Order: sequence, then C-alpha cells, then structure tokens
Amino acid sequence: MNLMYVSTRNNQEKLTASQAILKGLADDGGLFVPESLPALDVSLEELKGMTYQETAYAVMKQFFTDFTEEELKDCINRAYDDKFDTPEIVPMTEARGAYYLELFHGATIAFKDMALSILPHLLTTSARKNRVKNEIVILTATSGDTGKAALAGFADVKGTKIIVFYPKNGVSPIQEKQMVTQKGDNTLVVGIHGNFDQAQTGVKQIFGDKALARELDAAGFQFSSANSINIGRLVPQVAYYVYAYAKLYANGVIAKDEPINVTVPTGNFGNILAAFYAKNMGLPIAKLICASNENKVLYDFFSTGVYDRNREFVLTSSPSMDILISSNLERLIYHIAGDDPQKNAGLMESLARTGRYEITEEMRAELKDFYGNYTGEAETADVIKAMYEDTGYILDTHTAVAAGVYEKYKKDTGDRETKTVIAGTASPFKFSRSVMTAIDGKYDAMGDFELVDELSRIGNVKVPRAIEEIRSAAVLHDTVCEVADMPDVVRKFLGVR
Ligand SMILES: *Cc1c(COP(=O)(O)O)cnc(C)c1O
Repeated sequence: MNLMYVSTRNNQEKLTASQAILKGLADDGGLFVPESLPALDVSLEELKGMTYQETAYAVMKQFFTDFTEEELKDCINRAYDDKFDTPEIVPMTEARGAYYLELFHGATIAFKDMALSILPHLLTTSARKNRVKNEIVILTATSGDTGKAALAGFADVKGTKIIVFYPKNGVSPIQEKQMVTQKGDNTLVVGIHGNFDQAQTGVKQIFGDKALARELDAAGFQFSSANSINIGRLVPQVAYYVYAYAKLYANGVIAKDEPINVTVPTGNFGNILAAFYAKNMGLPIAKLICASNENKVLYDFFSTGVYDRNREFVLTSSPSMDILISSNLERLIYHIAGDDPQKNAGLMESLARTGRYEITEEMRAELKDFYGNYTGEAETADVIKAMYEDTGYILDTHTAVAAGVYEKYKKDTGDRETKTVIAGTASPFKFSRSVMTAIDGKYDAMGDFELVDELSRIGNVKVPRAIEEIRSAAVLHDTVCEVADMPDVVRKFLGVR
C-alpha cells in the first residue's frame, strides 16, 4: 500500500508521492504532507555502516513509496555524486563541544544543494511515472542563493528547462557572476529592471496565466516550481540527520540510542522540519533548537504561541534567514493540531488576513521538544571571531547564528551534556566579507577575491570549486528585460510563437 499525501488545508484529495512532487502546492494553497509519518525500518547497526547514498535510500523509500527501488536509487546516485567535493557528502567537524554537520559541500556551497541536486531527478521521474509527456519548465525568481542552486541542479537534466529571473541591481556581484556564468543549454538567466518582489510577482503572474499555459501545452511544455515547499525538497533533507546520528554512533561519540540535540539556523523552517520528521521516524533526538537572526518571528512564536509577521523586516548578515513568513511552519502547525486540516486552515486564513495567529494551549504543549532563541548582529560577529581565535574553524554567518543560540540554550536550560549537532548551512566563502570583517575590521579594505584568498590562508581551507570557477568563467547570459516583458522572454526561449 502506498503512503498517500494530503493538503494541510483539506484531506479530501489523496495523492501519491510522485503526484505531490509534480504538483508542488495543493490547489487550496496548502502544503502536501504524508497521511502519517513513516518509521525507519533499518537498525542502527545497519545504518552505522551505510554510505550517504545508502542512508538517503533507507529514509526516502519510506516516504516515496510509489517509486521503485531502481528509480529512487537512480535519483540518489545522480544527485549525490562528484558535484560534492567530498565522498562523505556531509562531513562533520567537532568544535567547542558541538558537532557541525557541514551541509555545504555541493555545487553552490550552501545547504540548498542537498535538496536541489535531487529535486530535478525526482521531478522528471515523477513526470515519467504519471505519463506526463511535456517537458518541465522550471520558473524561479531569486534574490540570489536559490536561483544558483536551482540552476546547478537542473542544468543539463534531460526533459527540463530552467529560467531564473533576478533583480539586475539587487544581488551581490558574486551572486550575479555565479548565475550569469551558468552552463547548460537548458538554462536561461535573466536580469529584470526591478526589485525582487517585482520579479517574484512577475513569475507568479506567468504561473497564473491560463492562456500562456495552453500555448505552452500545445508546444509540449508545462511549468513547475522548485520552491522550498515542495515535498520533494523536504524529504531528502531528513536523510542527513539520520546519517549524522549514525556517524556519531559509529565513531563512539554516543552510545546506542543515546539522544542528541539538533540546532538549526532557520528561515523558511524546511531544514528544522526535516529534523522533526527524523525524530518522528524514531531517530533519538531530544531537543530541536530553532535559531533565528534579528528577524525573530519564530523565537516569539515559541515563547508566546503567537505568530505575528507585523513587524519591521531587518536586513542582516545572514540574508538567507531574513524571512517573516516561514512557509514550512504550516506543516508543523498541521501536525500539532492533531493532523487537523480545518484547524490549520483557520489559522492560515488569519495569517493571510491579519498577519497573525495564536495557537491553543493544547497545541503549545505539543511544542515541548522545541527550543527557540535568536542571535543579534553584533553577537553573530562575536561568535565567528571567538570560534576562529579558539579553534581556527571559520563559521559562516548563518551557522554562527545557530552556534550563538546553542550557547544560550546551554545557559537557559543547564543542559551541557547532551551531544549536539549544529547544521552548518553555508561555506564561509559564500559570505566572506561578513565573516572576515567579524574576525578583523581591517579586512573590509580588501577586494572580493582578495578576501577569498585571505580566508583560505588564515582558515587553512582550500578555496571551493564553486568560487574558483567564477574567477575566470565566461559570461554566458546577458539578457535583461522589463518586468512587463517577462512572458515574452519565456516564449522566445522556448521557441513558442
Ligand atoms: C535557506 C538557508 C537557511 C534557512 O533554511 P530553511 O530551511 O529555509 O529554514 C539557512 N542558511 C542558509 C545558508 C540558507 O541558504
């Protein structure tokens, strides 16, 4: 019997995993969740000897039950290969009493690679399984990071094309260089005259354009999204928590079934929700420690039971966590409401109408394994500096936010004994200016690539391929357009009309 997926806002329609992956978002605006969370069916002794790919299979087969073994293993092997700069895929480093799980060894040196390197294969396999004949066209608006990770994931994947729109003057020079040098005949990168919100709105309009959809269908294309709410992005992320636990056990750091804590720098709530799923599968996780930056909507939610996005948006040095609506939180709300879609839909309706909602005491009780806190901007810089001076290990700004919150957790709770895994979500090379000036203000005078070399020298780490490549890479994309012309740019690229 297949594990079926339902929307978090109504449980009438049931989809298979491959149908949910193809669809992305439910028609009622809800997110797809499995009808029940599956359990791991392999022992710790078995997990202990598994490679990353084998662990990923052991986890994903429990969720994606309508994929054959061959299909799933094929997706996994195509995703987690030498695009990663280490055969371990996610190595772990101990520093100052915590275990940093480095999720940034993929093509774009940030944790989005963990999901976006496999999503294209899950999507094309899902299309095949459901007899979709059309080619899948991924459309994305990006403020920098997701666009490049999606491009790297979809480049040269048969049966797909990817078009990324970014604000021409709204991303960092390194981010722009990363995107406009993207190889692959099926990729298109377009700068727009406008800001990120306009790019996003433009993409949403194209998705909603029924006439364009018909034109495309006639030409053999259909749109899809690589958005972080796709269940095909969430499930692959469960695997690395299972892998980390098994490695700690294999290395004698923990005893059999000894509980660990997990600390996650959080934005859209996808990464920490994957840890919550891992715990529900039976992985011995004690506390789920949710780390925010100064956009501390989640900290306030965990401390008061009120989610309130009506506040000022703060630009921080950890931009991938600058978020006021954490989309994936909806899946947690649904679960703590006892898998009740009506209750969840009511709260989401309140969020859309007033920007806020409050959960019941009963629901709050279900959050007892979560701990939330935040790290301010100055504190984040202090964490990077102290870690470097103490150990030589260089944290990126997002991971430093998590390290700061873990320190607060230990002080608040007195729990200094439980072994703790901290999700390292980006390479320091990705945010070299913020990282280096945290260590010493004098570095601010250096140019971008000078900083990269200096970081490599003082941290004694090789410059990652992702950075090395863009130093000399040729610009392959120079399309720039007005917001109003976005649909025509899409038509032209696809050769429609
Ligand atoms: C996306 C991202 C995050 C936030 O992850 P969520 O799953 O959205 O909570 C944290 N750090 C980095 C570097 C990211 O790119």
